[in-house]
Amino acid sequence: MNIDLHCHSTISDGLLKPDEVARLARNKGVDVWALTDHDEVSGLALARATAQEIGLTFVDGVEISITWANKTIHILGLHLDPTNAELCAGLAHTRSGRDRRAQQIADQLAAVGIPGAYDGALKYVANKSLIGRAHFARYIVELGVCPDVKTVFGKYLVEGKPGYVPHAWATLEDAVRWIRGAGGVAVIAHPGRYHFDLVQETAFIEQFIEAGGAGVEVITSAHSPAEWKYYEALAKKYQLKGSRGSDYHGPGESEAELGALPPLPAPLTPVWQDWF
Ligand code: AMP
Ligand code: MN
Ligand code: MN
Ligand code: MN
Repeated sequence: MNIDLHCHSTISDGLLKPDEVARLARNKGVDVWALTDHDEVSGLALARATAQEIGLTFVDGVEISITWANKTIHILGLHLDPTNAELCAGLAHTRSGRDRRAQQIADQLAAVGIPGAYDGALKYVANKSLIGRAHFARYIVELGVCPDVKTVFGKYLVEGKPGYVPHAWATLEDAVRWIRGAGGVAVIAHPGRYHFDLVQETAFIEQFIEAGGAGVEVITSAHSPAEWKYYEALAKKYQLKGSRGSDYHGPGESEAELGALPPLPAPLTPVWQDWF
């Protein structure tokens, strides 16, 4: 079975609409698929309806932005009830600071000679409450300042570079509680992206488990083959379930196509073990 439990649509910062991502996943041979937009579940109904129509098993998901020890971390909520009131209220609150942050990002970019970035980024935004760095990156590429989005994230929008605005997202405890309260499983997204040292990594994982978190994304496009091995061992060490997801954002912007990564290593307990 080809299982992909992490990707984005125009409801957050993906390039394709929820129904288009569903059809593409099916065409790429995915059997079980979750849409996991950032801090937002409003694309799930269309994704689910389309998946049903084309014979794709659908899993409701979300990717929640949290702040832990001054770092932005992403927690996937999988196999949850997207109508759960506390989850929806928590996500709405998490989204609420994005517009002000976007204006500050634009101010910083203007100061280094990239004017009009707020309106420029908005051209790439389908869901006004979800303006984010990927939309700014697309505008910076449009201007010809950088050749592609990957290059933008080396020079702008990240810590220490112009266009980086520190932001207080949800807490780890709140995000995991919202996910579990909605009947879902909380999974650490792309742990290799956070550049934890061993002390921080240990503290984070222990706090995540204490909060009720149960899984870690092992096979994902942000990880190198060495990191697939490293996080397989980490999952075993902490008895976390393993997950697999491409983190697909759209044609030309993703390290991996939908469903194209290696399978989850067999020794791990998959997060989807009890779902079907
Ligand atoms: P935001 O939620 O607005 O902070 O934006 C986070 C999003 O920016 C991620 O989900 C990615 O889509 C994109 N992003 C962040 N860092 C990178 C990177 N180094 N390369 C490519 N995309 C990135
Ligand atoms: Mn994204
Ligand atoms: Mn992420
Ligand atoms: Mn993602």
